[in-house]
Amino acid sequence: MPAQILNGKRIAEQIQQHIRARIDAHVANGHRPPGLAVIMVGNDPASEIYVRNKHLACEKVGIFSQLYQLSPLIPEASLIALIDELNAAPNIDGILVQLPLPAHIDRQNIIESIRPEKDVDGFHPYNLGRLAQQSPLLRPCTPFGIMELLKTTEIDLKGLTATVVGTSNIVGLPMLLELLIAGCTVTACHRLTTNLPLAVQNADLLIVAAGSPELIKGEWVKPGAIIIDVGMNRMDNGQLVGDVEFEQAKSRAAYITPVPGGVGPMTVTALLTNTLYAYKTLHLKTSPIVKMENQ
Ligand code: NAD
Repeated sequence: MPAQILNGKRIAEQIQQHIRARIDAHVANGHRPPGLAVIMVGNDPASEIYVRNKHLACEKVGIFSQLYQLSPLIPEASLIALIDELNAAPNIDGILVQLPLPAHIDRQNIIESIRPEKDVDGFHPYNLGRLAQQSPLLRPCTPFGIMELLKTTEIDLKGLTATVVGTSNIVGLPMLLELLIAGCTVTACHRLTTNLPLAVQNADLLIVAAGSPELIKGEWVKPGAIIIDVGMNRMDNGQLVGDVEFEQAKSRAAYITPVPGGVGPMTVTALLTNTLYAYKTLHLKTSPIVKMENQ
């Protein structure tokens, strides 16, 4: 039997409706809406699309979003000065700096200049450290969104053998930490891994974030596996392709995410959830555990 498709777009819409209802209730009680500042340096076309999607999603749920579109030549110190201003701004709960940044700007300096309570991307070492210590606050959006997508399968993740392909600070590494917290036995694969097919064959749960089109061959997939494809590769013909051979993998797996329409919408929704969380912490002065709003 072919795999069930994990429809991230549909699940994201359901969660967004809950977020909208929560925000509407706070506003009806006389509070200001949550505020998100999005900073984009330069005009990378892919980044422009991501930023636009995030802005539209904010509008849909009632988050005020302010875009700062900056020159690619802006000095690092000026960018940090803007972030400092936003760190102190009373109407802003979340700050997001769209990556990548131009080469003359040190990405780590920028990430660390964001106040951890407003770090809605979850990239600050404080937030990553909280996740590593199994006590997360603001969680990196893509792995957070994937955990919520997995919840909808109602499969008990405890004890599953999970393989994560890709170990970046923004996707693969926090994904490994999330899965450890969930009780999986975890294998990390990266560019230097010598036997990728073996690690894939062993995986009950396979998460691929390598940025390499159709890197994972369908025949490597363990029958009945759950496959989460994070990869988004734009081909010369304009088509968007994942990191997994979709059709072949679908015929062996139990669940699989499509590209597009799988992980992407869940990532954006996790950003909204994080912004609502930051708003509750900073504006409403409550400190809930970070959970998607449908929990
Ligand atoms: P990255 O380039 O920072 O990291 C890639 C990782 O994959 C590295 O750890 C690298 O060692 C590993 N890798 C690369 N080629 C490999 C190979 N042949 N075998 C094994 N490992 C390999 O990338 P990233 O920022 O983590 O993004 C990964 C992919 O996920 C990209 O396609 C990106 O567009 C996509 N992405 C999607 C979303 C979403 O919401 N859907 C969010 C973030 C990133």
